Amino acid sequence: MKAAARTPRRPRKATNPTQKDPVGVYCRVRPLSRADQECCIEVINGTTVQIHPPEGYRVFRNGEYRETQYSFKEVFGTLVVQKELFDVVAKPLVEDLIRGKNGLLFTYGVTGSGKTHTMTGSPGDGGLLPRCLAMIFNSIGPFQAKRFVFKLDDKNGVDVQSEVEALLERQRREALPTPKTPAGKRQLDPQFADMIDARDPCRAEEVDEDNVYGVFVSYIEIYNNYIYDLLEEAPCDSIKPKPPQSKILREDQNHNMYVTGCTEVEVKSTEEAFEVFWRGQKKRRIANTQLNRESSRSHSVFIIKLAQAPLDADGDNVLQEKEQITLSQLSLVDLAGSERTNRTKAEGNRLREAGNINQSLMTLRTCIEVLRENQLYGTNKMVPYRDSKLTHLFKNYFDGEGKVRMIVCVNPKAEDYEESLQVMRFAEMTQEVEVARPLDRPLCGLTPGRRLRNQAFREELSRKLELRGGPVGAGPEEPSAAELFFQSFPPLPPCELLDINDDQTLPKLIEALEQRHKMRQMLTEEFAKNVLAFKTMLQEFDSSVASKENYIQGKLAEKEKTITGQKTELERLEKKIKTLEYKIEILEKTATIYEEDKRNLQQELESKSQKLQRQASDKRRLEARLQGMVAETSLKWEKECERRVAAKQLEMQNKLWVKDEKLKQLKAIVTEPRAERPERPSREREREKPLPRSVSPSPAPSCGDPAELGDSRVAPRVPRRSNSCSSISVASCVLEWEQRGPSCQPASIPKSRNKAGAEPGSAWPSPARRRGMCWSRVLEVPRDREELEQEEDPCCRSTPVAPLRPRRSRSAGERWVDHRPPSHVPTETLLQPRVPRAITVEAPSERALARCDRYLLTHQELASDGEIQTKLIKGDVFKTRGGGQAVQFTDIETLKQESPTGRKRRSSPPNPDPAGDAADSEWTDVETRCSVAVEMRAGSALGPGFQHHAQPKRRKP
Ligand code: ADP
Ligand code: MG
Repeated sequence: MKAAARTPRRPRKATNPTQKDPVGVYCRVRPLSRADQECCIEVINGTTVQIHPPEGYRVFRNGEYRETQYSFKEVFGTLVVQKELFDVVAKPLVEDLIRGKNGLLFTYGVTGSGKTHTMTGSPGDGGLLPRCLAMIFNSIGPFQAKRFVFKLDDKNGVDVQSEVEALLERQRREALPTPKTPAGKRQLDPQFADMIDARDPCRAEEVDEDNVYGVFVSYIEIYNNYIYDLLEEAPCDSIKPKPPQSKILREDQNHNMYVTGCTEVEVKSTEEAFEVFWRGQKKRRIANTQLNRESSRSHSVFIIKLAQAPLDADGDNVLQEKEQITLSQLSLVDLAGSERTNRTKAEGNRLREAGNINQSLMTLRTCIEVLRENQLYGTNKMVPYRDSKLTHLFKNYFDGEGKVRMIVCVNPKAEDYEESLQVMRFAEMTQEVEVARPLDRPLCGLTPGRRLRNQAFREELSRKLELRGGPVGAGPEEPSAAELFFQSFPPLPPCELLDINDDQTLPKLIEALEQRHKMRQMLTEEFAKNVLAFKTMLQEFDSSVASKENYIQGKLAEKEKTITGQKTELERLEKKIKTLEYKIEILEKTATIYEEDKRNLQQELESKSQKLQRQASDKRRLEARLQGMVAETSLKWEKECERRVAAKQLEMQNKLWVKDEKLKQLKAIVTEPRAERPERPSREREREKPLPRSVSPSPAPSCGDPAELGDSRVAPRVPRRSNSCSSISVASCVLEWEQRGPSCQPASIPKSRNKAGAEPGSAWPSPARRRGMCWSRVLEVPRDREELEQEEDPCCRSTPVAPLRPRRSRSAGERWVDHRPPSHVPTETLLQPRVPRAITVEAPSERALARCDRYLLTHQELASDGEIQTKLIKGDVFKTRGGGQAVQFTDIETLKQESPTGRKRRSSPPNPDPAGDAADSEWTDVETRCSVAVEMRAGSALGPGFQHHAQPKRRKP
């Protein structure tokens, strides 16, 4: 029966894309041909070679020439033998082949670098190819299928057929006159006989012994970008040789490339395979000679295909299942010389050929470059495999799966320096290309070790038969016992009766027949015996099988018991797991609830603490406010107390003075009965007194008693009050204020004034008394300012701080000096003080003061509540005797900003005694309006000479 299916070569993409191996690149340095040759390549270590320019090529750089090192997977020096190279480079590829994986091995280098030597070898020193073949047959030898069990089809597939079909085909082919199938054991061609090391025991370690194997070889040559079959049997015409027919490349259903119509020879031994190779080699040589070709310009490709299929379950015959067949291949390529064309001095046709050859190698280079780039940078450039037959044929190795190895052959001679450099560069680049690692072949699924068990059983059977002396079980080579027995049968005598009297022939025949009959009987007996023996053996076998079966069943039962036990255990554990899971679930739920509670409580805590904080801050604010209020109230009360004490003092003083005056008048009446005015002499006395310091017209300050002189800088309070000039000024102020109308007069003042005014005939106080009595004096004089000035004491007239010259009429366009210090801060309130016709100055100048008659100072300070408080201090400008200007302050206006939402106005805090308070406030206002002259001395700078003689606001009289 023939399984007509195609070879199911492993689907192309059954690779592991994550598992990739780089192309293995090895370097072999051949020895120099002559010892006197110049060498340019040195082996540094097991993986590195150093190449240095020979004399003629040396590129001098600062007196040194450049040496380049190249690293490879392994470097083989000149002393390395073929066997060593094979073990490292080719052996793994053969092992892969036997495991059903593809491999590609090629040699690259310039002509004469040792490519062919490495691949093919020389007599007595076989190269990689014969060694690969030897290893394959050493490994699969005993497991080879009968010839024609595997049959390659013309579409790169393989069929399998039964041994009987294979036998029939064998007989059919042997009947044909041509071609001659090489016999298994015959004399080898002496030309290559010693290239195969028959003693080499090299074999693969892992060979599936339950498989049967078939090896096929093919040998092609690519020359001038044409493919030729070197094994093709063409009719040989020695007179006019026909040029060989080129072959074309095709892709099979698994996208593998193959040469159509290429001869693939099934070989059964190393010798046979190498003989086929040698045949192709010879043909190649002949063609080169006949067609005048340069052999080094062609690429030779020797392809070894290994088909393998598993044995059936009995381990007897090959399994007739197409899915189970594996076909792997190893391609051994001896590339053409990589040197450039000019080196070989090719001409005409040869040049074209060489060009093409170089073109193939160039394409190989380009493909490798693009592959490398795609892999390194993740690009997806198209690899130009189709540009040459060589790359197209091996597309699958780079694109699909397999192991690729390259041996770079170099000749260290100096002449090859440049070419060797090129070779090295290409080799280094090739190392960076990665090829997908093929997956391991799956097993057929049948029990392993079938073949061995089968064989062992057969051997055992024959041994037992032999022991019983039976004929069964003899080897197929020797004649069986039965055959020998038949051969020993007595031959029948001639039984032709020619003479009637012949009495010998018949008795002889009878005797022979009798003998034969006897023997037959013996044989029958023997047969019966054998049958019996066989039967007993069978029974024995059966019983042993049965016992084994029983044993196995017992074991099975045991195992089943264990399995059931384990199952119940498993169930128990599963139940336990379930309960635990349930518990975990409940715990998780509880945890979630607790967490929720925790979150809520935390939120509550946070809100409460916020509330507490708010309350604390409110409390702090309230405290601060209360403290402020307490401080303010206590301050106010302090002030009020002071004020009341002062008022009381004044009142008492006035009373004292009135009494004093009365006493004086009384005394005068008693002592001098003349009705004369008592004031004049005292006034005269007063005139004799030196002028007080503060009102002196002299620019230099005197050093009189400050208390006496009323210098406010030294003793600003009581002494000032005792200054008569000041008192006049104060008096004029008070007068002015009084004249403004009764509506604005405080209620308490008229009382005191009336009290004072109740003495119409009271005399002018003596100068000694007038000190500190200005207030009474003021209250006593109910006349206007002009009159007062006219009646002024001569002392005061002679030395006025406030000059007694008639003032300009205020209604008639008075002019103001608006003194705004540079530190003035704009308040930006809607209501701003507006001073018409004012000269605004930052510092008061004499010139400005001379041109104006009114003076306004804008003073700003920070109030106790933190607000800006602006004070407009007003005064009159007078000319002093010294020629300077003096300012007499007359009024203070306080401007204050207050937030409507802020504290209550100062004027409105609850007062326990509203009437008294109002009166006191008025007292304060009156005080506020008091001013003291400021003397501006002529010639003195305004800054230092500007003297305030009184605080604008006074609390003590
Ligand atoms: P290629 O095939 O690269 O043109 P060959 O393999 O034909 O070069 O080698 C040219 C010559 O050099 C041959 O005579 C070969 O015997 C010799 N040769 C090459 N490599 C070695 C080597 N490693 N050891 C000894 N001889 C070698
Ligand atoms: Mg060669």
